[in-house]
Amino acid sequence: MTIYNFSAGPAILPQEVLQKAQASLLNYEDSGMSIMELSHRSSLFLDVINQAEQLLRDLMKIPENYRVLFMQGGASLQFSMIPLNFAQHKKALYVHTGAWAKKAIQAAQMVPNVEVEVIATGEATNFTAIPTIPEEAFDQEAAYIHITTNETIGGVAFQTIPDTKTIPLIADMSSNILSNDYQVEDFAMIYAGAQKNIGPAGLTVVIIREDFLNDTPIFSPMLDYAVQAKNESMYNTPPTFAIYMAGLVFEWLKEQGGVPAILKKNQEKANVLYDALEASNLFSSPVDPASRSLTNIPFVTGDDAIDKLFVKEATAAGFENLKGHRSVGGMRASLYNAFPLEGVQALVEFMHTFEQKQGEK
Ligand SMILES: *Cc1c(COP(=O)(O)O)cnc(C)c1O
Repeated sequence: MTIYNFSAGPAILPQEVLQKAQASLLNYEDSGMSIMELSHRSSLFLDVINQAEQLLRDLMKIPENYRVLFMQGGASLQFSMIPLNFAQHKKALYVHTGAWAKKAIQAAQMVPNVEVEVIATGEATNFTAIPTIPEEAFDQEAAYIHITTNETIGGVAFQTIPDTKTIPLIADMSSNILSNDYQVEDFAMIYAGAQKNIGPAGLTVVIIREDFLNDTPIFSPMLDYAVQAKNESMYNTPPTFAIYMAGLVFEWLKEQGGVPAILKKNQEKANVLYDALEASNLFSSPVDPASRSLTNIPFVTGDDAIDKLFVKEATAAGFENLKGHRSVGGMRASLYNAFPLEGVQALVEFMHTFEQKQGEK
């Protein structure tokens, strides 16, 4: 049976990448050692990390004056590091778009000497739409504005990036980095946990403008972006295997035609599902059409028991991880870069059959 993995993360990886990794597991490049056994200071591994960085730079057209950091602790650690590094005795502005933005806000509120202000919230729509940011909210004195480009749980995404003028813009891109075509120049900093669209869990990618780095030391070198940058992501042992895997995924993505080409495919995949939801009398999308995500698509029947039955039957038919996040229920299909169009087409067909059977009851 073909398995289609709709997991929101850790998520599906390209088959070709997994096969390449398998081959390097016992004997990397004829070294007689596994990729996992290489010293992070060895020239073999330095090639791996440098190539991964270069590929990411090519894919995202990262300008020279930005640094790429390979870190750990997930996007969640970034939630605390950002205010700690950049907002001491300053105001930090946040856009509240859903579950992940909320976590970023809560983490910032716990960092001493930071004044957190939520400048827009999707609460009025129960986070089914991206809120507009009022012009007067752009306090040019603020340390930064933080947004979540794509809410993985709620399935809403910014369709355009707000113009924050001189205020540095920071984006949590965990679930749509390299899926959407962003201009790195629009941001002072971008970060993403790798396990959604880049590779296995354990790696966090940070892209940061050099002049945004802070030279005031932080009490912990591990939590200090300037220290991480100065040490080229090797202040301590980096997640070597995850970086290797990320490099393979970047290579794969380049072979697919890069970000513009994958974006087109992602739009095609998402349209197949959204069109089916529009046409259905049973399933629907709870998300405002003007705010819909390409990568994470929640859907519901409006009846918990039917949702449950659907997930059960879908799982038995090979559609894995369709259950919605425990906080919202229903279903969710995550359609990251490595997810094939055939999988969405098969799902839509399955939904159609399920709906017909329900109609006959
Ligand atoms: C998954 C996710 C996170 C949390 O990532 P971890 O790597 O588990 O810390 C944060 N933000 C967004 C948008 C996510 O999708």
